[in-house]
Amino acid sequence: KIFRGLNCIFHPPQLKTPKYYCEERPPKMASSSTTNNPRFLMFFDFDETMISENSDDTVVNLLPNQQLPKWLLDSYREGHYHEFSGKITAYLAEQGITKDALLSAVQKIPPNAGMLDLFRFLQSHQQDFELVVVSDANTCFIERWLEHNKLGHLFRKVFTNPSHFDDSGRLVLQPFHSHSCPRCPDNMCKQVILREYMAGREKERGGVGFQRVFYAGDGSNDVCPTRALGPQDAAFARRDYPMHKLMMEMQQSESTEIKANVVPWVTGADIEDYLAKIMKER
Ligand SMILES: [Mg+2]
Ligand SMILES: [Zn+2]
Repeated sequence: KIFRGLNCIFHPPQLKTPKYYCEERPPKMASSSTTNNPRFLMFFDFDETMISENSDDTVVNLLPNQQLPKWLLDSYREGHYHEFSGKITAYLAEQGITKDALLSAVQKIPPNAGMLDLFRFLQSHQQDFELVVVSDANTCFIERWLEHNKLGHLFRKVFTNPSHFDDSGRLVLQPFHSHSCPRCPDNMCKQVILREYMAGREKERGGVGFQRVFYAGDGSNDVCPTRALGPQDAAFARRDYPMHKLMMEMQQSESTEIKANVVPWVTGADIEDYLAKIMKER
């Protein structure tokens, strides 16, 4: 993951007016009026969960020899990720990788197997599921992919690092927030995001929380958010990916930190099967 954690060591000032959208005009998202009070809340990671690749690798693959030059990689100084991320996006722009080239490569990333069917299933049960994206990618990539795949309307909210293209055509990334979780990169703790979102929604829903909460992911930064889940809930961990491996280790060490059911998945169909069973339970 080339960009992952690039903002990690950068200590961001609290952004007063964070730019959460890539474009000036925010994308069309699900509105609260179309989803009255769903029983279930489901969070999705983006890279290698919804989509079959890591979007940051995808864009580096646009370079003529599909990798960053050694001098650039060597220029990384410990504790200066932000500086480094600036160099990479500047390099991509210098190499003539335009905004259009970046975004069209991202929009073409295939969804993971079974994911579109899963989204169709979730759409057909829209009154039951509230859907949210939580990703360490960035607004420009996610908005473009959702828009291209006509999926934006399914999600009530996208939590990710703000990004925009500057006048030279360079992608500028900002950290999502600052937090004090010792387990997560400085730019994002997904557990903090989940807890704040769930508390905010419960308030908006007149004190009514969700019956069950689900989280689907693959990466090591997808473990922390599952600590916000309870015994009724499920953490879908992509089989043999870091999230799954780490959670298996935690289970083997008889750690009681994770209360949710851990459900490994290979395709979206595994997640759909589990959800379909829950739907029938009543
Ligand atoms: Mg991921
Ligand atoms: Zn964390």
